[in-house]
Amino acid sequence: MNTTKKLGLLGGMSWESTVSYYQAINRGVNARLGGLHSAPLIISSVDFAHIEQLQHKGEWDKTADILIREAKHLETAGAKAILICTNTMHKVAADIEQKITIPLIHIADATGCVLQQDRVKKVGLLGTRFTMEQTFYTSRLKEIFGIEVVTPNAQQRDTVHNIIYEQLCKGVICVESRNAYIDIINELAAEGAEGIILGCTEIALLVQQHHTKVKLYDTTAIHASAAVDFALAP
Ligand code: GLU
Repeated sequence: MNTTKKLGLLGGMSWESTVSYYQAINRGVNARLGGLHSAPLIISSVDFAHIEQLQHKGEWDKTADILIREAKHLETAGAKAILICTNTMHKVAADIEQKITIPLIHIADATGCVLQQDRVKKVGLLGTRFTMEQTFYTSRLKEIFGIEVVTPNAQQRDTVHNIIYEQLCKGVICVESRNAYIDIINELAAEGAEGIILGCTEIALLVQQHHTKVKLYDTTAIHASAAVDFALAP
C-alpha cells in the first residue's frame, strides 16, 4: 500500500520554480517507489505580482498574512508538512510555523544539512537581494550549521537580483545572464568559497553544474529531496 505522506506546497513564487518542485518531488518519489508511483501533493499557487510588490515595499507582514492563510488551507486539506517554494519568503517562515500545527520543511536547514555532509565551511550565496543582504538566511546557516556565508559585491548583487525578477521569474533564459552569474561564481570561489548556494529557486533554470567546475548547491533540488525523505519516512 502506498503510504506516502501528502505534502503542501506554497508555490507560485514564481510559478516557474514551482514547476521544478513538482517535477523533482514526483521524480524523487518515483525513484524510490518505482512503477507508477508519484507524490500526493497539494499546491497553493499565489499571484506573484502581488507578493513581489509587497516585498519591494518592505511590507513583509502582509506577505506573511497571505502565506499563513494559504498554509492553513493546505493543512486543512490534509497536508502533513508545508514547503515554502522560495528562499526569499523564508523571511516569514517563523510567522507561518506559528500558525500551523504541521511541520515546515525549512529550505536553509535542508541546504545546511547537505553542506555539513560535504564538510563545507565557507560557501557563496546567490539569491535575491533580500536573501543575500538580510540575516534571516545567512544567520541560520551560521548559527545552526557553523557555515560562513560570503556574498557578491553590491553591484553584482544588483545584477543577480535583477536577473531573477526581470528574467528568471518570467521564464526568460539568456546566455549573457548565465555568463554574468558564472563570472560572479568564479569570483566567489577565488575568494575562498568551497561551493555556491543557488539560493533562489529559479537559478538552476539558468545555471547548472555542467556550466562550472565550482560545486553548486541547488536549493530547489535539495528542498525537494528533503520533502521526499519526509513524505516517505515511516
Ligand atoms: N524564488 C525566488 C527565491 O527562491 C525568488 C522569488 C521570491 O522572491 O520569492 O528566493
